[in-house]
Amino acid sequence: MPTTWDVLVIGGGVAGLSAVIAARRLGAAARLIESAPLALRGGNARHARNFRIAHAEPQFFAPGAYTEHEFLSELVRTTGGGTDVDLARSLIADTTDVVDWLAGNGVVLQNPAIGAIPFSRRTAFLLGGGKAMINALYETAEKIGVVIRYDSEAMVLGQNGAGLWEVEIRKGAATERVRAQTVVAASGGPGLRAEGLILRGGAYSDGAWMQRLIEAGARTIGDPASGHMVAVDARGPRVDGGIVTRITALPYGLVVDRDAFAVESPGAGSGRTHYARWGARIAQCPEGLAFLILDAEGLSRAPPSALAPVRAATPAGLAEALGLDGAALARAVEGAKKLAGPPFFAFPMRAGLTFVHFGLAVDGSMRVKMRDGRIFPTLFAAGMIMAANILPRGYLAGLGVTLSVVSGRRAGEAAARHALA
Ligand SMILES: Cc1cc2nc3c(=O)[nH]c(=O)nc-3n(C[C@H](O)[C@H](O)[C@H](O)COP(=O)(O)OP(=O)(O)OC[C@H]3O[C@@H](n4cnc5c(N)ncnc54)[C@H](O)[C@@H]3O)c2cc1C
Repeated sequence: MPTTWDVLVIGGGVAGLSAVIAARRLGAAARLIESAPLALRGGNARHARNFRIAHAEPQFFAPGAYTEHEFLSELVRTTGGGTDVDLARSLIADTTDVVDWLAGNGVVLQNPAIGAIPFSRRTAFLLGGGKAMINALYETAEKIGVVIRYDSEAMVLGQNGAGLWEVEIRKGAATERVRAQTVVAASGGPGLRAEGLILRGGAYSDGAWMQRLIEAGARTIGDPASGHMVAVDARGPRVDGGIVTRITALPYGLVVDRDAFAVESPGAGSGRTHYARWGARIAQCPEGLAFLILDAEGLSRAPPSALAPVRAATPAGLAEALGLDGAALARAVEGAKKLAGPPFFAFPMRAGLTFVHFGLAVDGSMRVKMRDGRIFPTLFAAGMIMAANILPRGYLAGLGVTLSVVSGRRAGEAAARHALA
């Protein structure tokens, strides 16, 4: 074990793994610190399915073409022009060889010709999902000599007189001090507290390490009160429920709040991402709670759900089962054009948070910017902790993993080059 590491990566999600593998492949002595236990390693990519890539021609993993220009245009549109266009352009250029890079590190993709996944020319699907990707990357990291520690939380960061980072790491009751020339912060995005909100991702990505870096002088970007939210089943787990509790049948029924008043979400429409628009609307309902009411026809159009809907023969029966006011629900059901008649079905819903539009400001080498206008030359950030540079609002499906891999790879390589120079 070296007494001073070239590159110390904080956070073993897909961004941290990409950073540490990239650094190690350049010859750096690299160590990865992950606060979760082995069984829960990998952060939120455990729940991911696909990632967005630019490609000029049909590939075995994605038909047609999806140019860098089209990718950037869609990003500029979804962020209302808020993205850092120069940074986004260069990171999008890096997506053209992400598939090769991941494949070189053991990750396997699905072939759409097999027919088990949705048609997508913009995104590639992971065989075995995000968990398989994470397992492959950990295996590669171990094989090439990355030193990995689980159940280990980075707590305190400081610099000694020689300009080296000293990071205090807690494992159970023990504390260790680790010294490194460079640090890559890949600990995920911040949390967001709001009434009734469900966290779709894991509890270990809690934003505490990012807060430490802000206290140490890091500059922030984005809006800490804004996040990407989707409608999820209120009966699902409060944390780490992943994608299976998502409710996606909202266009086929009636949505009411806790007082059984009909709730509208103007502009949500019935497109593939309508549930993402509904997430923010549900978060605004009293107690953050809403209910989707369907008739038999609506339910037949709904994709299979993790939890069975509540069923009743009458609005009064449904109201009783859901704890709603019977007369108010009967009025709402009567006025709803989308409900033909009994039996009725209901899903209680809450907003499920995917990520927050807030993080650390970085330069083109993923070095963290300081509040006073300077940069930290040996402190890098990758993944959701810096995603707000690219995504200060909105979202494009598959961008989370892509951004984490390309920013992680760039941060890891820049950190290694600095340390080895
Ligand atoms: C339910 C769900 C589904 C998703 N589906 C998709 C999808 O299909 N496609 C897509 O592109 N994106 C998807 N995303 C987003 C994507 O998963 C994330 O953008 C990506 O995984 C972020 O990776 P990360 O490494 O930056 O952060 P995280 O995944 O949050 O990982 C951070 C890691 O740092 C560790 N950590 C935190 N603090 C410390 C500390 N102090 N010390 C040590 N370790 C620490 C955590 O344990 C964690 O492992 C989804 C997200 C969710 C929640």
